[in-house]
Amino acid sequence: MTTSGGNDGKPKSKRRTSTDIVHHGRDPFAHHGFVNPPVYRGSTVLFKSLESFEKRQQRYTYGRKGTPTTEALEAAIAHLEGGHRTMLATNGLAAISHTMLALVKTGDHVLVTDSVYQPTRKLCENILKKLGVETTYYDPLIGAGIAKLMRPNTTVVFTESPGSQTFEMQDIPAIAKAAHAGGAMVVMDNTWASPLYYKPFEHGVDVSVQAATKYIVGHADAMLGSITMTQEAAARMAPQIDFLGIGVGTEECYLGMRGIRTIEVRLERHWRSGLEMARWLQARPEVARVLHPGLETDPGHAIWKRDFLGASGLFAFILKPAPKAAVAAMLEGLELFGMGASWGGFESLVLPFDASAYRTATKWQPEGPCVRIHIGLEDVEDLKADLDAGFDRLRAAKG
Ligand SMILES: *Cc1c(COP(=O)(O)O)cnc(C)c1O
Repeated sequence: MTTSGGNDGKPKSKRRTSTDIVHHGRDPFAHHGFVNPPVYRGSTVLFKSLESFEKRQQRYTYGRKGTPTTEALEAAIAHLEGGHRTMLATNGLAAISHTMLALVKTGDHVLVTDSVYQPTRKLCENILKKLGVETTYYDPLIGAGIAKLMRPNTTVVFTESPGSQTFEMQDIPAIAKAAHAGGAMVVMDNTWASPLYYKPFEHGVDVSVQAATKYIVGHADAMLGSITMTQEAAARMAPQIDFLGIGVGTEECYLGMRGIRTIEVRLERHWRSGLEMARWLQARPEVARVLHPGLETDPGHAIWKRDFLGASGLFAFILKPAPKAAVAAMLEGLELFGMGASWGGFESLVLPFDASAYRTATKWQPEGPCVRIHIGLEDVEDLKADLDAGFDRLRAAKG
């Protein structure tokens, strides 16, 4: 295992997060002084004796089961999230599907927030359903009221806070209390806050999933997922996940590790710029509402302030009613905001969305067209100018 110590590899007294992020898991003089550890590529791992092969008596046994590169990233994420153990997955959705498959059996019931990342819903509707696992969606604002939805066979309560399109904040401690009272495990998709701004295990979560594709990789150049577990969850899940086969490419892990080194400075900037842009959008006459839990006026602000350590650069705004062609004119002409899925990279993005199409437990009735926005690391004045011109096009197209 890579050490949690300084450059000489020896553990140091407890340090603060910023220092840890830079030094954790590096041991340059074990690698001729090079600052970063090498990438171990490999499937086959050789054994020196028949006995050691038969007993798998060595640290590394097969590429799929882990390399020094994958373990370094797992240790770093576990440390940042505050969990017992992390296992990596090839992307965020794979982390979610492996988590669910490791936790449920035929005849089980799972509770999933209505604000969940849409592909998670498809996993429930297709794979879990096929296995005979029933899903009930619940109002993301349900809080302690989730107790009423618990059944004797409820094994998982799935949360995502805030929802990554509609940004409702969930009362995770209240939900966790009720879930645990009913014998269920709490899984959280913690991608929005990243392991830096939400510490799930301090709020009752048993399994925290990251789309590491987003802020951990941070440069839109690789896909990764992570599953971080309490000791109890790991004991139950790790063998199951191992059976499923979860080997992650080491080049991707290296990019994840490189992303982590700068995650704190990047996120501070995403947070500050995102909030400034949210306030700017809120003051625009074309905008009906901004959905950002960091805004004092947001319905989720109290929970955000109570439980979160910061905000990322992802939020949404609802336009006043406008025809589709006007929204298209606004978005298509943007020079700095690209239109595309994913987020968490250095660049700004926009994406129109309509959550009313798939909600089942709650109604999503926006005042007008909805736009999700990711504020990247560009200068905010340039971003404002780009959106300003976009609003001009919107108004011109509306006539
Ligand atoms: C992107 C995303 C995922 C899926 O991650 P991929 O790496 O794209 O598979 C899961 N949850 C949330 C909240 C996401 O934004």
